[in-house]
Amino acid sequence: MHKILFMSTPVGALSSGIGGGVELTLYNLIQEMQRRGYDITTVAPKSSFFNNAKIIEIEGNLHIPAQTQSRDISTMMPKNSVLANMWEYARKVQSEYHLIVNFAFDWLPFYLTPFFSTPIAQFISMGSLCDSLDDIMDQTAQKYPDNFGVYTKSQANTFPFSDICKILGSGLDLSLYEFNEQCEQKLAWLGRIAPEKALEDAVKACDITQVPLLIFGKVQDEKYWQDILTKYPHAPIDYRGFLSTEDLQRELRLCQGLLMTPRWIEAFGNVAIEALACGVPVIAYDRGGPGEIVEDGKTGFLVTPDSVEELVNAIKKLPKINRLDCRLVVEKEYSVEVWGDRFEQWFQTLMIKPSI
Ligand code: UDP
Repeated sequence: MHKILFMSTPVGALSSGIGGGVELTLYNLIQEMQRRGYDITTVAPKSSFFNNAKIIEIEGNLHIPAQTQSRDISTMMPKNSVLANMWEYARKVQSEYHLIVNFAFDWLPFYLTPFFSTPIAQFISMGSLCDSLDDIMDQTAQKYPDNFGVYTKSQANTFPFSDICKILGSGLDLSLYEFNEQCEQKLAWLGRIAPEKALEDAVKACDITQVPLLIFGKVQDEKYWQDILTKYPHAPIDYRGFLSTEDLQRELRLCQGLLMTPRWIEAFGNVAIEALACGVPVIAYDRGGPGEIVEDGKTGFLVTPDSVEELVNAIKKLPKINRLDCRLVVEKEYSVEVWGDRFEQWFQTLMIKPSI
């Protein structure tokens, strides 16, 4: 049997929400690879939790997410780094595995790759954010050109090694998201509450239209969140907290549309396909992943990045979208089965063949 070791992000425990979309990506990939008969173990920071998954919890201090730092910052490691401890564990057990997969957007795993005898696949979960990280990824990509996977083409294009990246997309277990043809006059915004997600633009659009906005997600930057509340005291917003997938889709599916307002080049935007899976059209800034996912006029609207005026106009056009078209596009292109094929084929080319 093939044994694969997944190495999680060092910015937060799995299921905490701090890791963002990579948490859902990891969960879905674990389930799909197990369904296909692979033996998957995941190494992650202490307190990580997933149903139906083997998780090795590792002690140590969490890392600062790359998107909160400036581009030219030097590589930093906290004292008693959880990432260093995770990779020390991987080093010790590597001979038991046919492949290691790195999900951390951090300098250390790329640097360590040539020192390992078990092959390492690199899944890159964000667009370019930091020069020193780009540099080590590029050096590793030159040595291991088959080992780099990304979500989307627009994300790959942010890196100097864009031409060697495997475009893997993302996928969902469709049985967890219920299609809902009817909707109520309210909108949703979901994701980590942090400046790169520009929640303030969605709040401003709802302040103008007075259409209620439900907000779901982890508050990653408390000051940023409080500033929004102070700036828009009369906006019709309702913060619902960070919900499990089951609870999230139950509320999301009643909404008329999802607003996605990334200020950065969104690597993918798992929230886009989660909304579409429920039949909820997506209004997104045409920047990064959402620009490849949303079909303008069919499954939502793509608007000029940073234009709140265009968000407002698109909100008015939402009733023109056929919600079934949204669900169908996810069934066709973003099911966990279709997505799993791409990952399995990629892993097969890299892994050591098992002796039994
Ligand atoms: N999410 C969640 N519960 C919530 C709000 C968000 O589980 O209440 C998850 C959502 O399912 C998605 C992730 O948070 O998987 C956000 O990921 P996305 O890819 O959109 O952005 P990222 O955080 O990676 O930049």
